[in-house]
Amino acid sequence: MLAFLVLVTVALASAHHGGEHFEGEKVFRVNVEDENHVNVIHELARNTQLDFWKPDSVTQIKLHSTVDFRVKAEDIVTVENVLKQNELQYEVLINNVRRVLETQFDNRVRASGHSYEKYNNWETIEAWTQQVATENPDLISRSVIGTTFEGRAMYLLKVGKAGPNKPAIFMDCGFHAREWISPAFCQWFVRESVRTYGREIHMTELLDKLDFYVLPVLNIDGYIYTWTKNRMWRKTRSTHAGSSCIGTDPNRNFDAGWCEIGASRSPCDDTYCGPAAESETETKALADFIRDNLSSIKAYLTIHSYSQMMLYPYSYDYKLAENNVELNALAKATVKELASLHGTKYTYGPGATTIYPAAGGSDDWAYDQGIKYSFTFELRDKGRYGFLLPESKIRATCEETMLAIKYIANYVLEHLY
Ligand SMILES: [Zn+2]
Repeated sequence: MLAFLVLVTVALASAHHGGEHFEGEKVFRVNVEDENHVNVIHELARNTQLDFWKPDSVTQIKLHSTVDFRVKAEDIVTVENVLKQNELQYEVLINNVRRVLETQFDNRVRASGHSYEKYNNWETIEAWTQQVATENPDLISRSVIGTTFEGRAMYLLKVGKAGPNKPAIFMDCGFHAREWISPAFCQWFVRESVRTYGREIHMTELLDKLDFYVLPVLNIDGYIYTWTKNRMWRKTRSTHAGSSCIGTDPNRNFDAGWCEIGASRSPCDDTYCGPAAESETETKALADFIRDNLSSIKAYLTIHSYSQMMLYPYSYDYKLAENNVELNALAKATVKELASLHGTKYTYGPGATTIYPAAGGSDDWAYDQGIKYSFTFELRDKGRYGFLLPESKIRATCEETMLAIKYIANYVLEHLY
């Protein structure tokens, strides 16, 4: 019996997701139609431990929208009773988080090393940044733009044919640790760039005339934590004086209306804005790099998931961006291009009204630095799997997103400033 228990324990520990097991946990989607519904969910959030998937926190719930949250096994009966008593319409998106978590590794290509159609852990991605740069010296160079809270090097890949005074597009992935499809896309983008350069005229032209700065994972510490301890982790892993809670939301930590709206000043919250703007070494490194390269960077793209949206400034305020009409037209054309491959529908618009107000985001900050084309992508899906999108969806998701990024890049080339 003891031997059996040891075996089971070893098997569990060696699974992809160590730590939290999520057995019997569910993800609910609740329709919110009136103020009473909002109050019911606030009450639930006070009395049970809800993990908000969409929106990012209980304070961001809007009328006439849906709210997705994960519920601990022991709270499910309570949550269902409260929803029923108050006549809230809801559905169960995920019936057992643990099962979906196990099936996300559903790609049959089970190579042990790096794969573009698998979720790669940080160690594998780190080795890949070195390898892809070494194998493509005429197209890729690797640099380090800073170190994470836990002391890891933040690698940046510069992708493009060498040339004088080239304009550039900056793209980052992996802000929020649990949004695994995001780093997968940055890797896919680099691979497609080198694979199609010299073979496909559009990519060849883009890389001849533009440089792409690709940051494969911004929040490396958090990403590692999702692989080792808690798949549902979102924030960085920093600690700050005065609290025992860990982590800051990197996308609430930029100096753009910092912490004024849609962000929390409580270190224990998932949308904690940090003790100050750029308090996180990761966000500071990104901001420093962009400030140092402002003359060449013409577009800023940040890749998140989920909900299939393309957002542009502003999120920290309901005011419209100065070139709002242009951004709207560009977003409209881009999502049309994205949908052309697999029919995947995206919504688009200014962040504050399209998703919800949230201050301290990197897209708003980059825009206010003078980068006219600044977009946040929320990749697949719309909630069927949420953050647990299976590996078998990586290819289609990345293929369609690739079309969107190339479309924007081409537009930027035609509208240099
Ligand atoms: Zn995100």
